[in-house]
Amino acid sequence: ASAAAAEMVKAIRVHELGGPEVLKWEDVEIGEPKEGEIRVKNKAIGVNFIDVYYRKGVYKAELPFTPGREAVGVVTAVGPGLTDRKVGDIVAYAGNPMGSYAEEQILPASVAVPVPPAVDYKIAASVLLKGMTAYVLLHQCFKVEAGHTVLVHAAAGGVGSLLCQWAKALGATIIGTVSSEEKASQAADDGCHHVIIYTKEDFVAKVNEITSGKGVNVVYDSVGRDTFQGSLACLMSRGYMVSFGQSSGGPDPVPLSDLAPKSLFLTRPSLMHYTATRDELLQAAGEVFANIASGVLRVRINHTYPLSDAARVHADLEARKTSGSIVLIPDS
Ligand code: NDP
Repeated sequence: ASAAAAEMVKAIRVHELGGPEVLKWEDVEIGEPKEGEIRVKNKAIGVNFIDVYYRKGVYKAELPFTPGREAVGVVTAVGPGLTDRKVGDIVAYAGNPMGSYAEEQILPASVAVPVPPAVDYKIAASVLLKGMTAYVLLHQCFKVEAGHTVLVHAAAGGVGSLLCQWAKALGATIIGTVSSEEKASQAADDGCHHVIIYTKEDFVAKVNEITSGKGVNVVYDSVGRDTFQGSLACLMSRGYMVSFGQSSGGPDPVPLSDLAPKSLFLTRPSLMHYTATRDELLQAAGEVFANIASGVLRVRINHTYPLSDAARVHADLEARKTSGSIVLIPDS
C-alpha cells in the first residue's frame, strides 16, 4: 500500500530522562486530528518549571515524549465532529496533554481556549498556565482579602511575579522571597511591600520581624524542600500553608502533629484539578486574560528563545538565572 508520505514537523524530544542535554531537536511525524481534536501550528510556547520535572523524571511520563504544556497557535485542521472550531482560529492551551515544544501538535479541542484580540499571542503563551495557577491559588485554595498578609516564595519567578501583582490588587500586604538583588527589585516593582533575599537572610526571622511576631495568613510555597519547614513557622494561628511546587526538591514528610500547635491548614493543589471542567477552565482563563487587558497583571516576558534552544532555557531555569516568563518561538 502506498500511503501518502508522512508529514513531519520539528519538535523537542526526550528519549531518556536527565539534564537539559536530553532535550533533542528532531523531526516527528504528525497525523491528522481525530474526532474531537484540532491540529495547531504553534506561534509561541510557554516554558514552565513542570517541564523540568518531567524531563528529570520527578513526574513520570512514558518515553519518548515531547515536553511542554502551554502554547498559543493557529488551528490548521479540525477533526470530525467539531462545529465550533475552524481553521485560522487563534487558541491557547495550558495543562494537559504534554507536547507543546513542537512546531505543530494535535490537541483535544476541549483544552483550547480562545485568545481575546486585546491580548497579544506571545503574552497569552507566557501567562496562561502561570496566570491560571495564580488565580486558583489566590481565589480558591485560600481566598486572599484586603488586610491579609501573604508570603510568596520565588516572588520574581513566572508564577511568583503574577501572584504578587494580583495579591496587591486584592489589597493584601505582600512579603516576597528571592535569591538576588536584581530579583528583589523586580519583586518590589511587582507589588511586594517587603522583599527578603532568602539566600542571604533567615526568612523566618525576617517575617517574624516584619509582622511583629504575628505571622502571615498564608504562604504560597513553590520552592519545597528548602523552605517548607520555615514556611510553617511563618504562619499565624489558623494560617494556610499552600504548597504548590518543589523547585528545590520535594519537602520532607510532614507529621500531622506539626500542624497542631497553630491549628494550621495544609493543601497541595494541582491546577488541573481546578480546571477539570470546561466551565472551570474558561472561568480561570477568562480571569487571567481580563486582568491582563485591564492592566492589573503585567506579564514579564524576560526571556525569548528559538524553540530549538530549549536545552539552554532549561539550564537557565534550573540554575535560578531566569525571572518572569520564558517563551520559545518555533524557528519556522
Ligand atoms: P519559576 O520562574 O518560579 O522558577 C523557579 C524559581 O524557584 C527560581 O527562579 C528560583 O527563584 C526558585 N528556586 C528556589 N530554589 C530553587 C532551586 N533549588 N532550583 C531552581 N529554582 C529554585 O518557575 P515557574 O513560574 O514555572 O513555576 C514556579 C513553581 O510553581 C514551580 O515549583 C512549579 O512547579 C509550580 N507550579 C505549580 C503548579 C501547580 O498546579 N501546582 C502550576 C504551575 C506552577 P529564586 O532564584 O528567587 O530563588
